[in-house]
Amino acid sequence: MEQFDTIEQLINAFRKLPGVGVKSAERMAYQMLDSKKETRDEMIEALRSIETITKCPTCGSYQENGICPFCNDESRSDETIVVTSFFKDALAFEKLKTYHGLYHILNGSISPSKGVGVNDINIPSLFERLKGSNTKEVILATNPTLEGETTALYISKLLEKYPQIKVTRLAYGLPMGAQLDYADELTLTKALEGRSEIRKD
Ligand SMILES: [Zn+2]
Repeated sequence: MEQFDTIEQLINAFRKLPGVGVKSAERMAYQMLDSKKETRDEMIEALRSIETITKCPTCGSYQENGICPFCNDESRSDETIVVTSFFKDALAFEKLKTYHGLYHILNGSISPSKGVGVNDINIPSLFERLKGSNTKEVILATNPTLEGETTALYISKLLEKYPQIKVTRLAYGLPMGAQLDYADELTLTKALEGRSEIRKD
């Protein structure tokens, strides 16, 4: 039915998002069509405005109108770089308000099973920016998953060529408020390995 082509087009647009199946796409499309005009206008405006968002060629972060919120912020120290897999992970550090250095966002993790190799994520650009930089520490903050670990290990190997740069990895451990007997084996093993001394004479 030709008169429903626009609805069909909307459903197909939602389906292009990863993890969205036919049913979910249909639900989202109809919810949009049934929403108030103001809500619809807000959505349309928000979608239009993402045209101004690109990725920073230096650190891989999202940036608006070509200005990176991290690289262009002169109040940040250029001596440390936190390496994360995704932009949302960098934002988690930002929320702490205790880190004032730079970021490098890989936009993925090395995953042989998914066919994601070193050159498919922002690893080459990390080494590009280290050339002649003032970096004193690289903090590897990829997720404590198999893919995140593989990625951190790979980067730390490459960083051996830069002995002047300290390479650190986030500590593994138990979540605050957790109970030991509920922790999985890997978390408990990592927490034991990463134990720190509390009485220093
Ligand atoms: Zn940047």
